[in-house]
Amino acid sequence: MSWRETLGVTEAAGESHAHNPHNAQKTAMQDNSADSADSASADAEETASRLLEALSDACRGLPITPAAVRDALALEDIEDWRKGEITRDTLAVFARSLVQRREMERGKRPTHYTERATCKHCGPIWLWFSGEVLGCPWCWNRVADRPIPRPDAVRCQDCAHFQRTDHPHLGHCAKGEPEAIAGLWDTDRRYCERYLPHPEPGDNDGSAGSEYLTKGEFAK
Ligand code: SF4
Ligand SMILES: [Zn+2]
Repeated sequence: MSWRETLGVTEAAGESHAHNPHNAQKTAMQDNSADSADSASADAEETASRLLEALSDACRGLPITPAAVRDALALEDIEDWRKGEITRDTLAVFARSLVQRREMERGKRPTHYTERATCKHCGPIWLWFSGEVLGCPWCWNRVADRPIPRPDAVRCQDCAHFQRTDHPHLGHCAKGEPEAIAGLWDTDRRYCERYLPHPEPGDNDGSAGSEYLTKGEFAK
């Protein structure tokens, strides 16, 4: 839609005026444009206000503000909400999922992630089901270099961040995890939120996990 249609100028330009038609037409266009702009602005304000009200309900009892949820919504989402295609329940689910995502970013395991699983790119992880997966919700942490809580201990020798010294068993952690002066013993088991398995031949930079995620496979 053109700006003229949006502001209702087309209709104004089509009207005739008996006295000084040119100026009258121009004045009408300006008045109409201003009125339409004012009206559009008022509509936008009302939409923003109603959205925040709906989000206040959605955020009730959650450690997140309505404004933060609003900022996470795409413009298309807001438009869908305005058209009534996104319910209050859906907004509440969205708000809860944002809270969960924030906690996961800090390395906190969601309470319903009770099963041990293994992600090809992240290693041992907590999930809501057990088994082996090609990508997982923790892949976001991995790509952003954030901690991943572990259900099992790992060995430095299996980690991509382990840098061996000349000693047959010792090495250092490229992630700066605590270690003795001599370094880390490769076969010792430890709890480590920075562990990442060695990439397998043919793996790319690990973005496969993210790609998997964006398809909604793990939107829980
Ligand atoms: S990130 Fe953890 S598992 Fe990997 S080398 Fe460092 S201490 Fe070892
Ligand atoms: Zn993963």
